[in-house]
Amino acid sequence: MIPSAHRPVIALHGGCGVMSRALLSEDEWVAACADMRKALEAGYAILSAGGSAVAAVEACVTVMEDSPHFNAGHGAALNASGQHELDASIMDGATAQAGAVAGAQAVRNPVRLARKLMEQSIPMMLAGPAADAYAADHGLETVPQSYFTTPRRAEALATMRAHDRLGTFASESEKHGTVGAVALDCDGNLAAATSTGGFTNKAVGRVGDSAIIGAGTYARNGVCAVSCTGQGEQFIRHVVAHEIAARIRYEDRPLADAARAILAEAFTPHGIGGGVIAIDQRGTISAEFNTEGMFRGWIDADGVLFVATHRDSECTLG
Ligand code: ASP
Repeated sequence: MIPSAHRPVIALHGGCGVMSRALLSEDEWVAACADMRKALEAGYAILSAGGSAVAAVEACVTVMEDSPHFNAGHGAALNASGQHELDASIMDGATAQAGAVAGAQAVRNPVRLARKLMEQSIPMMLAGPAADAYAADHGLETVPQSYFTTPRRAEALATMRAHDRLGTFASESEKHGTVGAVALDCDGNLAAATSTGGFTNKAVGRVGDSAIIGAGTYARNGVCAVSCTGQGEQFIRHVVAHEIAARIRYEDRPLADAARAILAEAFTPHGIGGGVIAIDQRGTISAEFNTEGMFRGWIDADGVLFVATHRDSECTLG
């Protein structure tokens, strides 16, 4: 029994670039679902012990970064020069404090660096080698680039280069990954965090929405916490995570309605894939996406765990 006014809730996504069920091997599907469960449990353990929403989303995203099945940390996408450049951010809805990192190449867990920067307050965002140097100076683990590379990401880069040569288009699953989490803690505080390798074959130096507070990540107590996945440029243009909060705050819209509307207006008509997970002050969870699927899961206010990948596919995890 949790001794608090609020029953905690945590939700995560592992990207809206899910491969079609036919192409995703059974082993990989099972392993990805198991890692989502592990990530949710890591965050929920913190919440149910009375820990903060910020600590919970950091812990949840760290597990997802360590998993080879998602495009963040170990398993992150490779850019056009075959390097990893990692973006991440975190926000505390109680204080509006936030931290962000763009284009890091060595810090093992970019979300942890974002949290450190959040605590520091100024600077709240660092990019490139300065971000990695800050991580090392503050006791965070740094790793060689090879740590982030998996055979699947190397193959994906070869495939994307072939698409470029042939003038063909990549599928959503070849483009989008990313991980994120949102949480409500026992004290009623909200938090959100997002981490990504961006997308395969992205331009060197390109920064996406996952590093940008208000675009890919946003949290505000009394309103909602949001983490986004999909084409970052569009999330930045429409300041999507903040836009969802603004629609709830100023138009009194329900969470799911606000999230669905922005995808319907700014993504679907342009053929752009996107997804969000969000949670409101009452602990209502929303997972909206316009792609074939989105790795997603949550532990709701009743403590019930749910994990899914495609539109109608709940993972049955025993
Ligand atoms: N939003 C991420 C980015 O643009 C990619 C993704 O979510 O797939 O960097």
